[in-house]
Amino acid sequence: MRVGVHRVHGAVVDAQTRCAHWAGPLDVLAILFPCCGRWYPCHSCHEEHADHPARPWPARVREAQALLCGVCGETSSIDEYLAAGQCARCRAGFNPNCSLHHHLYFA
Ligand SMILES: [Zn+2]
Ligand SMILES: [Zn+2]
Ligand SMILES: [Zn+2]
Repeated sequence: MRVGVHRVHGAVVDAQTRCAHWAGPLDVLAILFPCCGRWYPCHSCHEEHADHPARPWPARVREAQALLCGVCGETSSIDEYLAAGQCARCRAGFNPNCSLHHHLYFA
């Protein structure tokens, strides 16, 4: 699925990065996985579609543009995302429950 200039992998169900696991109104966020350099909507998508275990982002690279907004197709840095919980470009809100899973993505 293409979102902006990026290609999002996994069980993507629409062009705003919703997937088979997370398809609510605020589930419009994909993450770049540092293990393979691919965008996936969620950890489960990576687990089901990648051929290797996911690696979280190391704590020292918080400036990486690793979050992709499905609403505007632009990226935010890990820092911006963790601080605001919304898109740094278009201000679209992201699912606050994602924070329950941050340990899967960010070391
Ligand atoms: Zn990977
Ligand atoms: Zn998913
Ligand atoms: Zn946005």
